[in-house]
Amino acid sequence: MESALHLYNTLTRRKELFEPLSPPFVGMYVCGPTVYSESHLGHARPAVTFDVLYRYLMYLGYHVRYVRNITDVGHLENEVDDSGEDKISRKARQENLEPMEIVQKYMNSFHMAMEKLNTLPPSIEPRATGHIIEQQQLAERLISKGYAYEVNGSVYFDVEKYDKNHRYGILSGRVLEDMRANSRALEGQDEKRGQFDFALWKKASPGHIMRWPSKWSDGFPGWHLECSVMSTKYLGDTFDIHGGGMDLVFPHHECEIAQSTASQGHSPVRYWVHNNMVTINGQKMARSLGNFITLEELFTGSHKILVQAYSPMTIRFFMLQAHYRSTLDFSNEALLAASLGLQKLLTAEKTLAGLKPSDESTVDTGGIVSKCHEAMSDDLNTPVAIAQLFDAVRIINLVSDGREKLTAIDLVSLRELLRTFVHDLFGLKAEETVGNDKLAGVLALLLDMRQDAKERKEWSVSDRIRDRLSELGITVKDRKDGYDWEITA
Ligand SMILES: [Zn+2]
Repeated sequence: MESALHLYNTLTRRKELFEPLSPPFVGMYVCGPTVYSESHLGHARPAVTFDVLYRYLMYLGYHVRYVRNITDVGHLENEVDDSGEDKISRKARQENLEPMEIVQKYMNSFHMAMEKLNTLPPSIEPRATGHIIEQQQLAERLISKGYAYEVNGSVYFDVEKYDKNHRYGILSGRVLEDMRANSRALEGQDEKRGQFDFALWKKASPGHIMRWPSKWSDGFPGWHLECSVMSTKYLGDTFDIHGGGMDLVFPHHECEIAQSTASQGHSPVRYWVHNNMVTINGQKMARSLGNFITLEELFTGSHKILVQAYSPMTIRFFMLQAHYRSTLDFSNEALLAASLGLQKLLTAEKTLAGLKPSDESTVDTGGIVSKCHEAMSDDLNTPVAIAQLFDAVRIINLVSDGREKLTAIDLVSLRELLRTFVHDLFGLKAEETVGNDKLAGVLALLLDMRQDAKERKEWSVSDRIRDRLSELGITVKDRKDGYDWEITA
């Protein structure tokens, strides 16, 4: 099986030709959510990114085993210095529920949001609490190899020792010596030997409800351990792709590499793929900044910074309009523009279905198909592929207006192109338009009519539309080749 797919490998910091270990099989592991709160934008981006990679690999003919875990224990509040309370335990205490009730509640809500976003379910969705024994076994193996030690019932990974024989920091580019120089050790406040050592097993305090027996103590596993265990359990000691958000590169994925390398002599992962983060109006999303938006709030428009609801397909399309390794800034203007763009694309598809063939084509469409595939092969460049699809939309509309002609063969190939890219690969589908989505359509119609009026030099009509929109808080600015608009009130 041959494909020209190139993926950017975070480990080597360059795009590499994707060659699976045992074609036609591909193993892909993606870090899933820690299920202690409602799903938010930060969950949607990796889900959509790796859904498109999953779909594209299958489209190329690979048999993909896609494993995405659910973290339901061990993820502490302060992930960088590996301290604080377990996120699920804490929420269970706050809501006065069993930890597994918290897990079930937010896992259900995550699944519902993923279904709305039309992401395909993974082949296996393992849970950390279902692999406690395997995690204890890996911790034991690391002790026996001299890379972990027990103290007061807890087990820690010895980062200093590991760094002497291997290099800690190869994925993130961090150097242990610099890390030491740039941080202050809190003397006597920690039972760890080295300040960057991380927990493989934590002894549970008397009030801690999530606990399992072990030879060291009644306790619970450290967060990084589960992904080393579950990825190799289902995909083998070496597997093709490990994905996740860029925020997981350090410490989570760095620690995974250290654990696996210390235990089996090499890292199991061949291609590390990371999606970039989302920002809101140029700011990092954070509860403390009041811009933390859950997916449900986006779908219903119930967050105060949103001027309307945005459908799941609008969110999905918006994400695909940016390359997965770029940051993606959410704003009302950008989402409304995405909503209009998506409607334009889906409308053109309907128009295409009704076009009559001609004896000859007056415009070349062959290049569009190959450019779409080239874009996807180039590290999943979805924005470039979408730009090509809009070129197809332009041609479809010209043919519909009788200004260009296409043969039956070209019409079929355009239909095939849209079906493959819009639906099979990008996972977009027509939605019941409700409420404000209808208004977005009305706005698009008005702006189109204004553009037509301007072309016919009917200035009184075009000015009236602009002025009325301005009174409604929508500012239209003319450009040489079209117009921009923004919501100003
Ligand atoms: Zn993980």
